[in-house]
Parts: sequence; structure tokens; C-alpha cells
Amino acid sequence: MDFSLSSDDRMLQESVRDFVEEQANACWKDIDRTDELPDSLLDGARQLGLFGLSIPAEYGGLGLSVQQKTLVHEMLGRGPWGLASFISVHTGIGCVGIVRFGSPAQKDRYLPKMAKGEWLGSFALTEPGAGSDAGGTATTAVDRGDHYVLNGSKIFITHAGVGEIFVCTARTTPGHSNRGITSFIVTKETTDKAEAAAAGMGHEPSLGWTRGVSAGKKEDKMGWRASDTRELHFEDAVVPKENVLGEVGKGFVQFLKTLDSGRIGVAALSLGLAEGAYEEAVKYTSQRKQFGRYVAGFQGVHFALADLATEIEAGRFLTYHAAWLKQRGKPHKTEAAMAKLYCSELATRATIKAVQLHGANGYTTEYPVERMMRDAKVGEIGEGTSEVQRLVIARQILGDLVRD
Ligand SMILES: Cc1cc2nc3c(=O)[nH]c(=O)nc-3n(C[C@H](O)[C@H](O)[C@H](O)COP(=O)(O)OP(=O)(O)OC[C@H]3O[C@@H](n4cnc5c(N)ncnc54)[C@H](O)[C@@H]3O)c2cc1C
Repeated sequence: MDFSLSSDDRMLQESVRDFVEEQANACWKDIDRTDELPDSLLDGARQLGLFGLSIPAEYGGLGLSVQQKTLVHEMLGRGPWGLASFISVHTGIGCVGIVRFGSPAQKDRYLPKMAKGEWLGSFALTEPGAGSDAGGTATTAVDRGDHYVLNGSKIFITHAGVGEIFVCTARTTPGHSNRGITSFIVTKETTDKAEAAAAGMGHEPSLGWTRGVSAGKKEDKMGWRASDTRELHFEDAVVPKENVLGEVGKGFVQFLKTLDSGRIGVAALSLGLAEGAYEEAVKYTSQRKQFGRYVAGFQGVHFALADLATEIEAGRFLTYHAAWLKQRGKPHKTEAAMAKLYCSELATRATIKAVQLHGANGYTTEYPVERMMRDAKVGEIGEGTSEVQRLVIARQILGDLVRD
């Protein structure tokens, strides 16, 4: 395995890193306070083509390799996660299903504007009774000839207010079988028009929208500030058959594959966050003096920093390895779960340690480490909790001994 970077990879890495450090990290306090992203920041992301990072070049995307996408996520993770999640949910679970399972007509219709960051996508899987047990989908889709009628609700859906294109799962066959779940592309009128307009997005009439789809109120979250999370309701929503994604009854398999890729992205975001927190801790402890010397001069602090540096290196290898396998079309489910599990828990440990090493300053909003600590936690919850990752890994080890 060779994880060395080409000159193109380095240029990409540096351009995203500079964007995050010069533009996003410069306004993290405003993002956190207002719970909104400045339009200039989203314009900057558009200029770099970041909304199309997972879309092939023929549809106007960047056509990046899996390893390059991983590098971009790692760099995005170094900034406020409101921005990182805005881009990564759209390009990851929002676009990947259409790229992978969409018909040529669906790709032609949705991907070019999604690549430009004009239409914002997401993925609606979680339901009140179906979180970790995502196969417990209760939203129904009833065949009515040339269309399906969807009823039910999804919760904690990123972009539900500002976004327009959702890959949604619903049950086309009653019962509990995983083979009874189908994916649909559902378009929705923008709920939060002001915020969408501020983001340079918003509903364009040519997209058309599905009657009977609406969003609830924006969740007030601990971290990932500025990311729009809401309920999504389907009330006799009429979805034309041309919006079925892939084959009827294959939704469960599709979302498992989508999540396998998404987990490498969350691992890379978490890795970037851990790196950022570690660097803040090195900087602060190298400037702060107590007992007549720099705090970084104490052996207890050496050990803490050495442990973090080692764990970050380990997390980087796990993540790059999962990306390397995926790039080559090799099985990567277990490795993606391991990378996500390790890096998301590392981000929590690293940010908590960085707060500790800042003393009381770390507990204030003057320093970014408290924001990093709040952002980190969601990495252990979204796209499969840490416990679910352990189940995925254990299933590979123990097979049928691990029961669903
Ligand atoms: C900010 C944010 C954004 C999100 N965005 C999206 C989105 O865009 N689209 C989407 O579909 N979803 C989204 N989600 C939902 C997310 O994927 C779910 O929250 C997650 O899958 C966990 O489901 P749950 O919250 O229902 O927890 P539960 O499944 O209720 O779990 C509760 C606890 O029980 C544990 N647990 C459950 N089952 C087991 C088991 N078998 N063994 C051991 N422990 C277990 C869990 O690990 C957890 O600790 C988002 C969530 C957040 C917080």
C-alpha cells in the first residue's frame, strides 16, 4: 500500500486547507452564534468545486478519487463542522446514491446542478422507530400505477429545511423484510427560503416538487451549528415512478453501501478535527507559562501530546487504508467501520484533552477547542453510532453468532 500524495493531491489538500483556515476558521464564532453559514463561505466552497467532490467530471463534478475525497474531508474537518457537514452530507449521502444507483436520466437531471451547489441534496433514512435499526423503516410507499404515495416521517434529516433533493427510503412491501424497502428521489420545496437564499440556494421552479412533503422546525443542536437538521414529513406525497432509485426492493442494500462510503468520510472529518484540536493544544501549551516554564515543558503534557500524535497517525492509516480499498473496488465494510469508530472516538478524546490543556480558557468561547469538543460528539452518533460500528466489525469476526 502506498499512501504517498501526488503533486495534484498536495495541491488539492493545500487549497482546501487554506480555504478552511483562512476563511472558515476566521468566522467560526459567528457561525456558532448565529447558527448560519455566511454566503461568502459557501461561495468560496463553490469556487473550489467542493459541492461536486463526489460527482464524476462528466456531470460537472470534480471527479476525484476516493483517496482525494478523503483528503478533502480531512481538511474540512479542521474547520467548523457546520461547514464541513453542509458539504459532506450533500456530497456524501446526498449525492452518492444518485451517482451509484441512479438511471442515466436521473443523473442527467440532478447531478449537474448538485455539482454546482445550486441544488442541495441529503438522505432521509432515520425514523422515530428506526434509528440504529434502520431496517425498521415504517414509512410506506404504495404503488398507484404511474406513481407511489408515501406516508410517514423521517427525523434528524440534515438540510431538511434548506435542501431540495432527498434520497428517501420507504417500505414498498408491508412487513419487516429488508427486501421490502425501496429508495426514492424526493424533491421538496425549500422550507427555510431565507436561509437557503443566504446560502445561494433555494427552490428553483424547474426542479418541480413533491406535493405532501414538508419539514419541521430546525433542531437546536449542541454542535454542528449552522447545519440544518429537521423532521421530514410525507403526507400522501405523490412520487412518480421515474423517481424510484435503482430497483424496487433494493433500498436496504443501497443504503448499506451508501453508509459504507459515508463512514470513510466521517472518519476523515473526525481525523481532521482531532488534528486541529491537537495543534491548538500544542500552540497553547507552548505559549502558556506556569511554575516559571511553558506548560508544554512538563512531562505530563509531553505524554498527553505524544499519545494524541500517535493516535492521530493510527487514525490516518485506518482511514487511508479504507479509502485505498474502496478505490480499488475491494471489500471495505469492516475497514470503513473501524476507521469511523476509531477516528470519531479519537476526535472526542482529542478535543476533551485539548480543552483540558487550555485550563479555564478552554472552557470559554474565546478559544475554538470548546466548539471542537461540541462538534466532535456527533461523529460517534451520525451514520451509525459507535456501538453499531462495533456490531458491523463483530459480524465480520463472528458471523451468525451476532444477531441483528
Ligand atoms: C446532527 C445529526 C444529523 C443527522 N443527519 C441525518 C441525515 O441526514 N439522515 C438520516 O437519515 N439520519 C440522520 N441522523 C440520524 C442518525 O443517523 C441517527 O441518530 C443514528 O443512526 C442513531 O439513531 P438514533 O438516534 O435513533 O439512536 P438509537 O438507535 O435509538 O440508539 C440509542 C443508543 O442505543 C445504542 N444501540 C442501539 N442499538 C444497539 C445495539 N444493537 N447494540 C448496542 N447498542 C445499541 C446506540 O448506539 C445509542 O447509543 C442525524 C443525526 C444527527 C445527530
